[in-house]
Amino acid sequence: MAFLFVTLLRGSHPLMESWFWLLLPIAALGGWLVAARSAGKAGSCADSMLGSEYIKGLNYLLNEQQDKAIDVFIRMLEVNSDTVETYLALGNLFRKRGEVDRAIRIHQNLVARTNLSNEQRTDALLELGQDYMKAGLFDRAEGLFRELIESNVHLSSVLPLLLDIYQQEKDWGNAIAIAEQMGFVGEQSARAVIAQFYCELAENARARVKIDEALRLLDKASEYNPHCARASLIRGQIARQKGDYQAALTAYEQVVGRDIELLPEILDDMEECHAALNSTHAMIPYLQKSISQYAGISPVLALAGIISREQGDQQAADYIAGELGKRPSVRGLARFIDLNLSGCSGSARDNLLILKNMTDQLLENKPVYKCNDCGFTGKTLHWQCPGCKHWNSIKPIHGVEGE
Ligand SMILES: [Zn+2]
Repeated sequence: MAFLFVTLLRGSHPLMESWFWLLLPIAALGGWLVAARSAGKAGSCADSMLGSEYIKGLNYLLNEQQDKAIDVFIRMLEVNSDTVETYLALGNLFRKRGEVDRAIRIHQNLVARTNLSNEQRTDALLELGQDYMKAGLFDRAEGLFRELIESNVHLSSVLPLLLDIYQQEKDWGNAIAIAEQMGFVGEQSARAVIAQFYCELAENARARVKIDEALRLLDKASEYNPHCARASLIRGQIARQKGDYQAALTAYEQVVGRDIELLPEILDDMEECHAALNSTHAMIPYLQKSISQYAGISPVLALAGIISREQGDQQAADYIAGELGKRPSVRGLARFIDLNLSGCSGSARDNLLILKNMTDQLLENKPVYKCNDCGFTGKTLHWQCPGCKHWNSIKPIHGVEGE
């Protein structure tokens, strides 16, 4: 019977929502019956007291005083090995419904009991920790999860939860320590995720102008993931800032070698480095090679920029027109119009300006990046997807309105 109520309480069918307030007294009654049966013979006095309590709870429920009803029904659930499951499932259901305060009250009540087995107590602590997490009480949740880790129980549940807390708090040091105990973070290799944590620490060090520390942290990132493109990207940015343009170019080429989807991120910086080294010409073969390997429009536009500066706008416009047939792109069209505007006047120019206005409107508010895992879109490159929390899953959007 207890199993039936636990199953009902754990159900996630939509009908559960409408039947929830009916199931609560049924579960309470079921829990009490189980307890009474396990006690062997419940005295008539106790029976009558519980009966009046039950009526009181129902009355509260009918008068929409749910909190008081819950208190009554919880009191009825005598905690023993048969009813702990009912308690846990009830609290779990409240948490799933977003009623975290009620879940916390139920699980706290359970944890406070002294007659629980070790296993029951750790089950309750795990639930209570998740209640605290959902309520945003990260310090309390962390304390409970740490206690469970020290007891070496529920590790497969607790480690991801604790890691989630540290990631939300951007406590990368602790996140690394926890991820090191995991083989995978979700479906991603823990070592690749740890490399991202080191990159976060390196970004922080760079922001504090602690460049040596940042470089040491990037070495750690590469140690955990030798193919970490982000570590190379940050190395390139540091080298460029220091004026070591050749080292920056080497790092940027490494970025693309590791993840060609990051090509649009480094092209402007590469151009800047080549300009500083007076070697812009050397970028042309690199761009031509990139265009043959990468389907997006960014390297085409970068090459068009060089052609425009060296041979004039018309040559650059002709080049883009040829490429647009192979890779249709609103961004490419907008640049093509720009290049044609300089040589136009009168009504032809006015017509081009109308077209330019249209392409600008098409591109305005269009997301540039999309998460390959959950479909989250935005205009900023997030290393951790704000939607699904996966790392390195956000890439440029390809297609006519994108890359
Ligand atoms: Zn995502």
